[in-house]
Amino acid sequence: MAGEIVRRPLIIGNWKMNKTIGEAVGFARALAAGLPPVTDRDAAIAPPFTALYALAPELRETAIALCAQDVHGEDRGAFTGEVSAPMLRDVGCRYGLAGHSERRRIFGETGDDVNRKVKALLRAGLTPVLCVGETLEERDAEQTYNIVRRQLKEGLNNLSADDIRRSIVAYEPVWAIGTGRTAAPDQAQDIHHFIRQFLGLMAGQEGAEEIRILYGGSVSPENAGALMAQEDIDGVLVGGASLDVDSFRKIILY
Ligand code: PEP
Repeated sequence: MAGEIVRRPLIIGNWKMNKTIGEAVGFARALAAGLPPVTDRDAAIAPPFTALYALAPELRETAIALCAQDVHGEDRGAFTGEVSAPMLRDVGCRYGLAGHSERRRIFGETGDDVNRKVKALLRAGLTPVLCVGETLEERDAEQTYNIVRRQLKEGLNNLSADDIRRSIVAYEPVWAIGTGRTAAPDQAQDIHHFIRQFLGLMAGQEGAEEIRILYGGSVSPENAGALMAQEDIDGVLVGGASLDVDSFRKIILY
């Protein structure tokens, strides 16, 4: 029965372009030192590429996994400045973000690019975290559902139902990222429910029940619990509040 599926909460900290190797290692040590064993949820850090190799041994004995902030759609070749999914796998990543709104907005990533990234992550055995979400203008124009549907369709285009089941979706309204504005838990729940229904059309209803849907956008220790208490919110993608050891620890242990 679909209703009996238990989805383990997942908390991912996205550090964006912050922290040197020394700062990242110091953070990992402080976090690990103050974290009791957690067996009922998953957590991960997405540091800058430069800190991945140094963080891997620091996190090996902890419950914290590594996540990549981005990936290239090809496995190798003449793509100066890019990092491939097999390389991310090699350095110890378990997850990889695809289509973060900053990548779409600042770096012009298209739905096709995001789809290639999702596929590359799956080919390498990583779990893609497909980020979707509307801008303020799109929300004001009542386009939220259309935008989210389109980004899901594009990001998961031509994937098998099995591959969709192996993926994670992060709903991140762009107007809530880094702004201190958070979607109200019931508002976010409505969109998450819509996302799960749409995933049901793409991967079958039972498959959709297994897929974790994270919320992102100014998540803090104060609002994380109420968000994750919603039926279809299976975790959070945290930017700013993941840069501070105490606040990230509180969110992990919400
Ligand atoms: C993010 O970068 O994905 C994010 C949600 O950032 P913040 O928590 O700072 O809004």
